[in-house]
Amino acid sequence: MLDDTLLSVDGLCVAYDGSNALNGVSLKIRKGELICVVGANGAGKTSLIRSIAGIVPSFSGSVRMNGVDITKLPPWDICELGIAQVAEGRQIFGALSVEENLLIGGSLKRAIADQDAALEFVYGLFGRLCERRRQFAGTLSGGEQQMLAIGRAIMSKPEIVMFDEPSIGLSPVVTDMMFDVVKSLHQRGITVLLVEQNVAKSLALSNRGYVLENGSVVLQGQSDELLNNTDVQRAFLGM
Ligand code: ATP
Repeated sequence: MLDDTLLSVDGLCVAYDGSNALNGVSLKIRKGELICVVGANGAGKTSLIRSIAGIVPSFSGSVRMNGVDITKLPPWDICELGIAQVAEGRQIFGALSVEENLLIGGSLKRAIADQDAALEFVYGLFGRLCERRRQFAGTLSGGEQQMLAIGRAIMSKPEIVMFDEPSIGLSPVVTDMMFDVVKSLHQRGITVLLVEQNVAKSLALSNRGYVLENGSVVLQGQSDELLNNTDVQRAFLGM
């Protein structure tokens, strides 16, 4: 059988000052899937994304992209392989314009030839960013900054986008819009790893899910099964 695994994480361990944040996390994402990782505050969701992205080192375990071991690669090489992240807190460059922020995403070797088309695509997706393309990114609203962070990731021509709590701090209306954007990117063929505290919405959107607790995967399965799991309902859905 053909193995269509895009990203595989095996036994990943991360610690900060000797205290473990990830205790041997394993997961697989197939090409074209939308996977969510849910968990409470401090479960290790951000550490997982940052470790895959090469920002936080792991002390054990591995990350493979298309079968290639990327565990020890620096973040920029990982971006060049088509792994983009939309970080929690957005991490945009506030003193640069909207368009300059987007062009930074599009300046990767893998993306530069298609930069103009990607910019047009992002402005088509987020008309608000087009209107405000000369504005300093630091003066955008929270929702607009989230659009910019997503736009910058799209500019890098990713195979997979990792979203770290895209709904955090946003109003319900803007949150719904963000989930719609995640859905539409997935429908356009981008593989998605979505990390969220909004368990109901992210399970409703995804194909499969993983539940992270104290740095370990405690449950995994098809998202509809997890939505009907009584432990998940009790822990996250207030049932
Ligand atoms: P949240 O939903 O609140 O963002 P999370 O699931 O993303 O939480 P992480 O941010 O990965 O969880 O944190 C996992 C654990 O690692 C927590 O106990 C946290 O305090 C700790 N931690 C995270 N970053 C650091 C750091 N830079 N230095 C020390 N400890 C850290």
